[in-house]
Amino acid sequence: MNQYETLTPEVLEELRAISGHRVITGEDLNPDYTHDDMPIYGIGMPEATIDVQSTEEISAIMKVCNAHHIPVTVRGAGTGLAGGCTPVQGGVVLCTMRMNHILGYDEENMNVRVEPGVLLADLAKDAADHGFFYPPDPGEKFATLGGNVSTNAGGMRAVKYGTTRDYVQAMTVVLPNGEIMHLGAPVSKSSSGYSLLHLMIGSEGTLGIITELTLKLITPPVCHCSLIVPFSNLADAIGAVPGIKRSALKPQALEFFEKEMLETTEKYTGSSVFPKVVDGQEVGAYLLITLDADDNDQLDALVEKGAELLLEAGALDVLVADTPMYLEKTWAARSSFLEGIESLYNLIDECDVVVPVSKIPDFTLYIREIGDQFSFDIRMFGHAGDGNIHVYACENGTDDDIMAFKKETEKFMHLLYAKASELGGQISGEHGIGFGKVPYLAENLGPVPIHLMQGIKEVFDPNLILNPNKICF
Ligand SMILES: Cc1cc2nc3c(=O)[nH]c(=O)nc-3n(C[C@H](O)[C@H](O)[C@H](O)COP(=O)(O)OP(=O)(O)OC[C@H]3O[C@@H](n4cnc5c(N)ncnc54)[C@H](O)[C@@H]3O)c2cc1C
Repeated sequence: MNQYETLTPEVLEELRAISGHRVITGEDLNPDYTHDDMPIYGIGMPEATIDVQSTEEISAIMKVCNAHHIPVTVRGAGTGLAGGCTPVQGGVVLCTMRMNHILGYDEENMNVRVEPGVLLADLAKDAADHGFFYPPDPGEKFATLGGNVSTNAGGMRAVKYGTTRDYVQAMTVVLPNGEIMHLGAPVSKSSSGYSLLHLMIGSEGTLGIITELTLKLITPPVCHCSLIVPFSNLADAIGAVPGIKRSALKPQALEFFEKEMLETTEKYTGSSVFPKVVDGQEVGAYLLITLDADDNDQLDALVEKGAELLLEAGALDVLVADTPMYLEKTWAARSSFLEGIESLYNLIDECDVVVPVSKIPDFTLYIREIGDQFSFDIRMFGHAGDGNIHVYACENGTDDDIMAFKKETEKFMHLLYAKASELGGQISGEHGIGFGKVPYLAENLGPVPIHLMQGIKEVFDPNLILNPNKICF
């Protein structure tokens, strides 16, 4: 299957003529560049890595690699959860982390131009300092914006404000043949032919390399608070979600998690914020809801209405986190779920399905039903307001146990994806397909859409050098 060439000394010389000492090879290669946050989906050793600095540099590198059939994989911060930036065919890895400049705000048209290596946390803070709000809020704040756009990252606030896709107005892209292309425009609508901009968003570095982004900003809500809502079991917690969505509450975040997930993360953070027993009744699951508003009176009214609705839906209590410290502690626990799992287990696989919101109870119940057939622990949490459920299979073991673990989790994942399909869901709500979920996407979509995707890939990248073997191949 290997249609690629390896890096000869002559090609390396060509790359060094472009990027100088930033072309790293041999023993100096950074092992971090061999995988993302899910090494279970494979590790790939590149022949060379380059911390790139500009559009023109990337263009020149791509011209060389395309001419010599050298595979190229681009990475941001490597926090992906699908093996998307893993260089499975070796070749050259380009890292965008040095392209980390915020290029400027257009305050009148409410947008910002950034390089792809700017971290989400840095843009969120800088936009706030300029009086703006950049709503996308995936859990990992140290991911790059290029990575966020390439995976169409979702996160906590998607239920009200949409996903990363909704904030991308324009971008500069280097195509696999090195050509530089500008897509989109800083306008608020467009019906101007096929949207290549939206094709690039979520394409996980397979169609082109994003080297600049124009992102939409909005004005921030004036005030917000969070509701911590314990339930005796997951079915009750999830059962409350459709009612909340139909109400006028319009939550900014609507998250769910099970007691076991909280226990895991609290062992990691060492702090305990959520109630475990309410009036003698043990808590089995939680909703965590953020409400925002244009003034405090409006927020108070929303809190009152929300509490009423939640108690009617079976909540054991409704606690209001409305001070900066309480809010920070509450969300620090939620943001540490994955780190919590990683601190307790060394073998981890995950699934990020999205199902219609009304089907979350059927899906989560099914997981608990089949869970007993497997030896690993299962942890569950997710964006309840979007029907996006993260299921983790976790175990402790040595290197010798990896194959057995993978065999078991494959069986488990097949069952989960089949169930999600049956319920009208899709393979990934926000993490992408990368390398880890390629067979599941093919099964879920069937041959015709996969064939169309392969055709699109071949138009952008006839030599298939950019991030090979991902998504649809
Ligand atoms: C603790 C934790 C919590 C997380 N929570 C969320 C969450 O709530 N929601 C969510 O959606 N994700 C979440 N993620 C996943 C991850 O953070 C996102 O997928 C993020 O968008 C990846 O960004 P990155 O810079 O790390 O990209 P990488 O992992 O480096 O790359 C991801 C993909 O994007 C491509 N890519 C990167 N940069 C470019 C570029 N400039 N041009 C073209 N392609 C590019 C890569 O080739 C790869 O396919 C979480 C991850 C962790 C570890």
